[in-house]
Amino acid sequence: MPELPEVETVRRGLQRLTLGFVVNEVDALLPRTIAAPESVDAFAAGVVGSGLTGWQRRGKYLLGKLGDDEQRGDRGWLGVHLRMTGQLLWVAPDTPVSKHTRVRLLGVAQDGAGERPWELRYVDQRTFGRLWWVPPRVETDAVMTGLQRLGPEPFSDEFSVAYLRRSLQNRKRSIKSALLDQALVAGIGNIYADESLFLSGIHPLTQCATLAEERGDRLDKLQKMVVQVLRTSIDAGGTTFSDFVGVTGVNGNYGCEAWVYGRDGEPCKGCGATLERLKIAGRSSHFCPRCQK
Ligand SMILES: [Zn+2]
Repeated sequence: MPELPEVETVRRGLQRLTLGFVVNEVDALLPRTIAAPESVDAFAAGVVGSGLTGWQRRGKYLLGKLGDDEQRGDRGWLGVHLRMTGQLLWVAPDTPVSKHTRVRLLGVAQDGAGERPWELRYVDQRTFGRLWWVPPRVETDAVMTGLQRLGPEPFSDEFSVAYLRRSLQNRKRSIKSALLDQALVAGIGNIYADESLFLSGIHPLTQCATLAEERGDRLDKLQKMVVQVLRTSIDAGGTTFSDFVGVTGVNGNYGCEAWVYGRDGEPCKGCGATLERLKIAGRSSHFCPRCQK
C-alpha cells in the first residue's frame, strides 16, 4: 500500500510532468471510482476544460489544483486517493489500455515541445482508490470527507514531541496502533511505523501512556525517527523517478533498505538477534526482541 513517501513521490512526478495539462474528455471505465460528484457526468463537467496548475499532498491524498485554461481562474480541485493499488500513468492516449484501467482523463499536454494529445490514466487492480472533483470556493474536506479526520503532517511544526506526549497520555492502546491512526499523524503506514519504532528502540506493544509518562528521550527520538525514515524514503523515491507517475510494489521505496519491515526470521542488523513478527491492530508488526523494549 502506498504510504506518505510513495504518495509524495507521485505528487512530485505529477508536479513535474502534468502542469498545463488541459482535460477535454473523461472516460470512466469503472464509474464507482468517482467518489464525488455523484454522477460521472457531473464529474466530467467539472473537470473538462480545466488545466492542472499544481499538486499538493495531504496525508495520502493528492490534490490537483484546477485552473481555467485562459485566465487560470479557479476551477476547483481534482482529488485522488490511491488506496491499496492505485496508479497514475502519464501516457500517450494510444498506449494499450490494461484491464485494470478505471478512469481516463484525456486532454492536451503543454510543455517545451509544444502541445500534444496526452492522457492522465488511473489504473487500480483492487479498485479501492477514488477520484473526486471539488467545485471552486468549496473546502476540499467538505467533499473529500476523509481529510477531516487527518492529524498533523509529520513534517509540520505541529507534529512536535509536546503534541505526541499530549496525544498519547492516558491512552492504553499500543504505540504501534497509535502510529497507524491517521488522526494522530497523517500518512504513516505499516512500513514506516515499524521502522521508526525500531530506530527509537521501542517495542511495538508499548502502551502509549507508558511512553508518554516515562523519563528519558524515547518519545523525542520517536518523533525524530518518524520524520527521518519518511525523508530518507522520499529522497530514495525522488532519485529513481521516471515518466511513470506511479507506485508499484507493496514494499514501497524503503522496502529494500528496511531494518525490520518484512524481515522476520532474519538477523537484526543492529544486534544479530532473530527478528520477530506480531499481529497488532490487524497488521503485521516486525521488530527486534532485543533492541526494542
Ligand atoms: Zn536487535
